[in-house]
Amino acid sequence: MNTYDLLVVGSANADLVVGVDRRPAAGETVLGSDLVVHPGGKGANQAVAAARLGARTALLARVGDDGHGRLLRDSLDSAGVDTSGVLVGGAPTGVALITVDPSGDNSIVVSPGANGRLTPGDVRAAGELFAGARVVSVMLEIPLETVAEVARSLADGTRLVLNPSPPAPLPDEVLAACDPLIVNEHEAKVILGTELGGTQLGTDPEDWARRLLARGPRSVVVTLGSEGALVADAAGTRRVPSVKVKAVDTTGAGDAFTAALAWRLGTGESLADSAAYAARVGAAAVTREGAQESYPTAEEVAAYAR
Ligand code: ADP
Repeated sequence: MNTYDLLVVGSANADLVVGVDRRPAAGETVLGSDLVVHPGGKGANQAVAAARLGARTALLARVGDDGHGRLLRDSLDSAGVDTSGVLVGGAPTGVALITVDPSGDNSIVVSPGANGRLTPGDVRAAGELFAGARVVSVMLEIPLETVAEVARSLADGTRLVLNPSPPAPLPDEVLAACDPLIVNEHEAKVILGTELGGTQLGTDPEDWARRLLARGPRSVVVTLGSEGALVADAAGTRRVPSVKVKAVDTTGAGDAFTAALAWRLGTGESLADSAAYAARVGAAAVTREGAQESYPTAEEVAAYAR
């Protein structure tokens, strides 16, 4: 009996957002709008997305003993995420300092803070969470050595889903454990970059997926924004259509997609069907402002069923 449909191991950040007329040059000060603080970070986003859909979800993460950490815990609690694995202390909560100009362009500085202190030892100490999980989802906003320990800590039959964001070259043992590796175009290029000298990747996502599969993961998903996604495994590659919506804010759509896909895989659904469901979740998420605030319930997703 599994206790959790999904265990997310990853980051939790406070996103501090200020609107500016233009970004300051070096040495310059500009005035901005009132500060808005959102709960964010890819790990917390994924956990909230899955819990809102109805998945029994736990998060293993680290936050600081501060107000931002409490904001994140409140958001996770109110979505119904099991926060027994949200560790406290070691550094301030991670923050993303975001300025947005009138054209919607962002400049972002991330201070990883406590996310950078989530250690392989923290993973080993969370044996109960791992033993109870059908699927484990991890991303790269935590130390790579911690991600590698996650790949080594899976219980028999537990599936690992990895979105390598922000992208970095991955060790073979991590790639081999992924089922699937989920990438957007930029992440695909970075993962394949060393193999291809960085510049020789063509424009065909089916080609990227085949090349990624050859690097060791059991399956690959390439997300294509408004074009939907592509899934690839030993049986071949399949396109997953997108859902036509009016995009308002794409922040956190990839996290919602990944969480939904991971959850559906754990229920025994095929990779293609799970990705089709996740595409509806991603589409719903872009119709509203924000990341965690934009995530749909299962009832809302059902409204996008074809
Ligand atoms: P990331 O945020 O990681 O770059 P994508 O932008 O590819 O990820 O979005 C993830 C998924 O969310 C897509 O595969 C798609 O299913 C859905 N999605 C994203 N943007 C849109 C959009 N404009 N219209 C419909 N669906 C979208």
